[in-house]
Amino acid sequence: MPPERTPEKARHILIIGGGYVGMYTALRLQKKLRAELRRGDVEITVIDPQSYMTYQPFLPEAAAGNLEPRHVVAPLRRVLRRCRVRNGYVTRIDHARKSVTYCPAGTDSAGADGREIRYDFLVVAAGSISRLLPIPGLGDCGIGFKTVEEAIYLRNHVLHQLDIAASNEGDERVRRRALTFVFVGAGFAGIEALAELEDMARDALKWYPGIKAEEMRWMMVEATDRILPEVGPEMGRWTAEALRKRGIEIKTETLLKSAENRRIVLSDGEEFEAGTLVWTAGVKAHPVVRESDLPIDDKGRVIATAELTVEGLERVYAAGDNARVPDLTDTGDYCAPNAQHAVRQAKRLADNIVADYRGKPRKQYVHAYVGSVAGLGLHKGVANVYGIKLRGLLAWFMHRTYHLSRMPTTNRKMRVTADWTLAFFFRREIVSLGELERPREEFELASKG
Ligand SMILES: Cc1cc2nc3c(=O)[nH]c(=O)nc-3n(C[C@H](O)[C@H](O)[C@H](O)COP(=O)(O)OP(=O)(O)OC[C@H]3O[C@@H](n4cnc5c(N)ncnc54)[C@H](O)[C@@H]3O)c2cc1C
Repeated sequence: MPPERTPEKARHILIIGGGYVGMYTALRLQKKLRAELRRGDVEITVIDPQSYMTYQPFLPEAAAGNLEPRHVVAPLRRVLRRCRVRNGYVTRIDHARKSVTYCPAGTDSAGADGREIRYDFLVVAAGSISRLLPIPGLGDCGIGFKTVEEAIYLRNHVLHQLDIAASNEGDERVRRRALTFVFVGAGFAGIEALAELEDMARDALKWYPGIKAEEMRWMMVEATDRILPEVGPEMGRWTAEALRKRGIEIKTETLLKSAENRRIVLSDGEEFEAGTLVWTAGVKAHPVVRESDLPIDDKGRVIATAELTVEGLERVYAAGDNARVPDLTDTGDYCAPNAQHAVRQAKRLADNIVADYRGKPRKQYVHAYVGSVAGLGLHKGVANVYGIKLRGLLAWFMHRTYHLSRMPTTNRKMRVTADWTLAFFFRREIVSLGELERPREEFELASKG
């Protein structure tokens, strides 16, 4: 298939990924290059398999049923009205030819139908994927927590485990397995997902008179000696204590050794069955960047300069989870993979593209990490921002207001606010829609006669 064309005189800016970095870069470019876009001097294309950007910090609340999952994503076509959005998977970056190959949605993902697209400026923002370890059984029964689909699945799955336990009175083994929930990896994603889902399940037990809260076993397994490093050691210790008071087991300096057939084996010698295993033990740069001809570090990240250009290359830029960006506020270190950096890097990156386009000097990315907020269930939270340490209701309120202010588009802000407001008046929804994962099952059965 011939490469996709842009008008002859137009400079083509191609953005791989429509997540934090990709969407915010495109948003700023379409604002700053408005006149050029109108004249047809510039074209911007964003390629992403999804047609939406996911606001990941709200995934735990979506999983817990406090937010409607559709409201935690921003539709790319609506937000990026002056950009071309292409849904598909980038399979190859060939900078020597200034070309990217992608598999458009609905075509052969193995690459046979790959389509080539050329660029003048390239932004590499494919983010990260879960960092898996070769643990027996993990690939078969574990689940990650990075996408809105995983959040929806987990919500249904956890509620379904309560259904299983309630429907198997007398079968202790089945009940115990269904009511055991194990999370591995105590960063943002793991702690927030665990805390929110436990809160939801405890709430749901009101409708399951046959299950006592003490029968549920919620556990965090963490390899290092601390949890939630994003809020600092003191608040991390406080979080561990607060979760323990809720009956949640926190096992630090412990490794998951095996999960074959849902039988969990831990490095401290404990063995038991668990109906739920969530893997949130870190991320690694998306493999598409490792397979490219761009300079890559030993962790598979694109090597970026402080100006967010790719080292040694002209008009190629990278930021976010898939890039190694020097942290100029901490000599010798690199920016951590988080939304705080991703959003700010996107702004600087877009401004540097505009500077290059106009022949002006680029600026460096400098941002000192200001700390973090985390939700731990309804009315519970922890925060350490600008050295101010908060816990409980105040921190939870700060978590919500901060993320609401960051949520892209007024439309989504209003919908999230409406969800929270409704939650004041109505009880949390506790239906498990298991069929969402197997929508054709009944139809297939019917077709067999
Ligand atoms: C549950 C959870 C909670 C979090 N909470 C916080 C928080 O409270 N605070 C905070 O600072 N950070 C938080 N983070 C981290 C933060 O969300 C990430 O650091 C941020 O999303 C990184 O932005 P990015 O643009 O690099 O990647 P992403 O936002 O992940 O975007 C990458 C995009 O690339 C697309 N893509 C992937 N592969 C391809 C391909 N082959 N071709 C084309 N497109 C591709 C993806 O579909 C995605 O849209 C959280 C993360 C998770 C998972």
